[in-house]
Amino acid sequence: MNQRNRNFLVGLILVGLAIVLMNSISSQKTAPKEMVYSEFLRQLREGKVSAVVMEEQRIEADMKDGTQVVSYAPEDKNLLVVLRSSGAKITVRPDQGPPWYVSLLIHWGPILLIIGVWIFVMRRMQSGNRMFNVGKSKARRMDETTKRTTFADVAGVEEAKEELVEIIQFLKDPTKFKKLGGKIPKGVLMLGPPGTGKTLLAKAVAGEAEVPFYSISGSDFVEMFVGVGASRVRDLFEEGRKNTPCLLFIDEIDAVGRHRGAGLGSGHDEREQTLNQLLVEMDGFDSGEGVIVIAATNRGDVLDPALLRPGRFDRQVVVPLPDVKGREQILAIHSSHVKLAENTELLKIAKGTPGFSGADLHNLVNEGALYAARHNKDSVELSDREWARDKVMMGPERRSMLMSEEEKRNTAYHEAGHALVGILTPKSDPVHKVTIIPRGMALGLTSFLPNEEMHSQEKEYLLARIAVAMGGRAAEDLIFGEFTTGASGDIQSATQLARRMVCQYGMSEVLGPVMLDKGEQQHFLGRDIGSDRQYGEATAEVIDQEVAQMVKSGYLKAKELLATNLEKLHQMAKMLIEKETISQEDFQSLMPSA
Ligand code: ADP
Ligand code: MG
Ligand code: ZN
Repeated sequence: MNQRNRNFLVGLILVGLAIVLMNSISSQKTAPKEMVYSEFLRQLREGKVSAVVMEEQRIEADMKDGTQVVSYAPEDKNLLVVLRSSGAKITVRPDQGPPWYVSLLIHWGPILLIIGVWIFVMRRMQSGNRMFNVGKSKARRMDETTKRTTFADVAGVEEAKEELVEIIQFLKDPTKFKKLGGKIPKGVLMLGPPGTGKTLLAKAVAGEAEVPFYSISGSDFVEMFVGVGASRVRDLFEEGRKNTPCLLFIDEIDAVGRHRGAGLGSGHDEREQTLNQLLVEMDGFDSGEGVIVIAATNRGDVLDPALLRPGRFDRQVVVPLPDVKGREQILAIHSSHVKLAENTELLKIAKGTPGFSGADLHNLVNEGALYAARHNKDSVELSDREWARDKVMMGPERRSMLMSEEEKRNTAYHEAGHALVGILTPKSDPVHKVTIIPRGMALGLTSFLPNEEMHSQEKEYLLARIAVAMGGRAAEDLIFGEFTTGASGDIQSATQLARRMVCQYGMSEVLGPVMLDKGEQQHFLGRDIGSDRQYGEATAEVIDQEVAQMVKSGYLKAKELLATNLEKLHQMAKMLIEKETISQEDFQSLMPSA
């Protein structure tokens, strides 16, 4: 029961009490003295009564001496005879029944009670059970009293922040912008891979502007009943308009915003209705009102183009994976609560984590702290974080996995092959660590430490990477003369890299610098960047030949390098079988020249 209902109830009780009180006062005023029936009869016979008013069993009598008395008569047939013969004036009143409020209660009470119970039950259903709460928006309002997220909590996405500064200024003072006639976008679409901080950025915008933040996920709109999503959209915008200026955040908008008509069957009516309602709402408000809608997705390519039209989500902000500097800053943000050992350089971790998202880095920091705690350390060291990095990258170590001696030997030569080719190829990234502890799906791992984030990569560097990837298999071939399945991942990555070199970077001498494939790594950027083939069968054949040629020559190069350094390969494999994990210092003792 809410406050208003309670006030109403208290009022009702007070009014009722007042009525009862007044009634009793008014009846007291005329309250006559009570007289027993026999005495009344005696006085009647003596002719002392001038008038009586009869009402059921109650008799009110005016005495000749001016007093009033009241008496209660039994069912007495004689009474009337005596009364009539007494000569008193007789008035008979019909039964008045209960007072009006009592009869009102008797007549209407049950109905009111039923209505009351019904309202109560409905309310309970609405607040308690989701099934009965279908039309509500479910948007969560971020509590203003808790610590606000600000731009200081987000790192490595400077361009995105710059784009959002204007939105913040607008939310802080919408009227100022309106006066100047500035045109503010209603909707901002944030595009980027998962875990890059899109949600965090949206929160930070609200935090910086100090406005309420309503967050809802696209999947919340999609429910089992048709029309529910649409009503939730309506509700969300209504809520927003009541609380201007504010920020509405729709996460995973691709759940509702998929290209219409793309689905099969009629099961998509609901989503289409929801999307249509969203479009209607976006069109229906004026950004001058002080409501800004931010949506986020990692699938920009599947969004309905109608969403991106002017006046809707016409401003787009790309939130990419962080570069090495960004990763260092993100690590710093999340390390602020962690006790780090003195020599722990964040930059070193940042360098070893290309492709990690902000969420991955956050995870790495947590895992590292847990690992250090498990080993009773007072602070988190570099090695703990390296362990955590491998765990985040490859899944947990499977130390308990039983590896036969033969398998262990195979893996040791395989990994030593990768590492040795890496060490012996000048253009390759330096080898950082080699391990034959199984992790995730891999039996072993050779990790590299890229010197710096490279935005453009030389052909020779890429060829070196192919050779390194083939190094594992080349070693197996050299030593055992047969292959295991352990190299399938290597072959896949080498082939993919070769294909990109041929089709996207124009690095094939036969085909020349032609863009044959737009590539698909950045599919989140928009639907028109898909990879559609734009060449004929003959070209396709040449591409396949070129790719095969590149991988093969990488393989031959690796094999040749290992063959001329066979002794080192044996030494390194032996070391690996003994220690399971070897690092940079160990390689240096193996080959002082490297
Ligand atoms: P997205 O919405 O893009 O999938 P989130 O915003 O949900 O990613 O990020 C998840 C978590 O990862 C955040 O709560 C934060 O701890 C961390 N994180 C991600 N990106 C960043 C970043 N750029 N700076 C700091 N922390 C980040
Ligand atoms: Mg998110
Ligand atoms: Zn391998």
